[in-house]
Amino acid sequence: MTQHVPLLIGGKMLRSETQQWIPVTDPATQEVIAQAPCATVEEVDLAVATAKKAFETWKETPVSERARLMLRYQDLLKQHHDEIATILAKETGKTFDDAKGDVWRGIEVVEHACNIASLSMGETVENVARKIDCYSYTQPLGVCAGITPFNFPAMIPLWMFPMAIACGNTFVLKPSEQDPLTPMRLAELFQEAGAPDGLLQVIHGGKEQVDQLLHHPDVPAISFVGSVAVGEHIYRTGTANMKRVQAFAGAKNHMVIMPDAQKQHVINNLVGASVGAGGQRCMAISVAVFVGESRNWVPELREALAQVRPGRWDDPKAGFGPLINPQSKERVLRFIQEGKDAGANCVLDGSDCVVEGAPDGNWVGPTLFTGVTPDMSIYREEIFGPVLVVMEVDTLEEAISLINANPYGNGTSLFTASGAAARKYQHEIQVGQVGINVPVPVPLPFFSFTGWRKSFYGDQHAYGKQAVRFYTETKTVTARWFEDDIAGGPNMTIQLK
Ligand code: NAD
Repeated sequence: MTQHVPLLIGGKMLRSETQQWIPVTDPATQEVIAQAPCATVEEVDLAVATAKKAFETWKETPVSERARLMLRYQDLLKQHHDEIATILAKETGKTFDDAKGDVWRGIEVVEHACNIASLSMGETVENVARKIDCYSYTQPLGVCAGITPFNFPAMIPLWMFPMAIACGNTFVLKPSEQDPLTPMRLAELFQEAGAPDGLLQVIHGGKEQVDQLLHHPDVPAISFVGSVAVGEHIYRTGTANMKRVQAFAGAKNHMVIMPDAQKQHVINNLVGASVGAGGQRCMAISVAVFVGESRNWVPELREALAQVRPGRWDDPKAGFGPLINPQSKERVLRFIQEGKDAGANCVLDGSDCVVEGAPDGNWVGPTLFTGVTPDMSIYREEIFGPVLVVMEVDTLEEAISLINANPYGNGTSLFTASGAAARKYQHEIQVGQVGINVPVPVPLPFFSFTGWRKSFYGDQHAYGKQAVRFYTETKTVTARWFEDDIAGGPNMTIQLK
């Protein structure tokens, strides 16, 4: 029997009262593996009210107790690493090893949340005026909400609720309706780690449930990760409702290849970074910019891409899995057709990809375009499939201008043997995450994940120190203690010393 995904409210797994259920399918077969509820208005309200009540106690819980919860949680996640990765692989189609990477990147954020005491320290200055001291505290906001995408169902929920909760907040998570089983398992393990009831709620659904959170008066902060169209809606609506919002959105990431780079490093890294996870990563490289003579390597890149084939999650030879749903596949095929119609050369075409034993999967094979110009939709838009476009320029300056004119600014990388070129690139490029001979420069959690321009709306980013700033208010105390009780007259001016 197909399982009905529960809601988590107040520490209990509840069956939703809704009449509206969304099928969760195996993207390699279309088999329905679960039904996700569209939580009712009352259920969303109950989730927020429960989180609000739990906040009253949790915000008073000592920081070392909050850290210990995270220590137990990271340990439990590590014990269940393979099991979570299997759930994740089955519902997303990711290969098992890639699914393990998704979980691991989330575990690293939980490890980071264990440092909450030192991360949330305020500042002090003694004698800001004669016998007056000044010091600051970080205090939690209340009920924070998180809305997450399908493509990292472990990592991205784990970017959010551990840091928010470690800061002393409570949380309502609305994961992607396309792969809710992984986040539910993460939530179950959080309860098992000893999280008091009501710290974390999980509700399911789509736009209606998200909009309810965006308008809810008891939710002061919203974290979002997803497409740019939805991110803009979230940021506009959330901020119009006076909420604190961080919205991570789409991407178009370029790798620049200098002629002095090592050819085989470039090809190996470019293949994994472009078609790994079927290109369904916000940090995937979707544009390769070959500078000068490096353009001669394109035929070998094509050969290397042609060797990679998609397959089912448990096929050890598969390079990547299917796209998440038939609509995504159609969208990617439409872009491939648009590229051909616009006059680009499709030198490797994955449109007719077939995987033996899985005729109904959302398969698209590695696809490579050359002769691409900046006006083409395959260059302008985020395709979110295993499609790499090649651009050719003569100089590093031209590559930098091309990338800085692109509206997105999530990630980029430069492959070179020249320190001077690397220094110029890292300084002048207007992109949040820069890799020097590193194809997918996702920062580890002691830094922050920092998309720029259309790839991020807000100011404080995910994890690192910025997450603590996002999930807390700063309170500054100015204090004087009188040594005697001799009172002077009233002080009518601003004290200068
Ligand atoms: P999506 O925008 O379709 O969905 C994201 C979330 O928003 C889901 O929980 C979904 O239920 C909800 N949602 C969908 N439509 C909505 C609407 N109209 N109003 C309110 N909420 C709505 O994104 P997706 O397809 O699940 O994920 C892929 C996208 O996420 C890609 O664009 C990718 O680049 C982006 N992404 C960005 C980052 C980053 O860090 N910048 C990381 C991962 C994914």
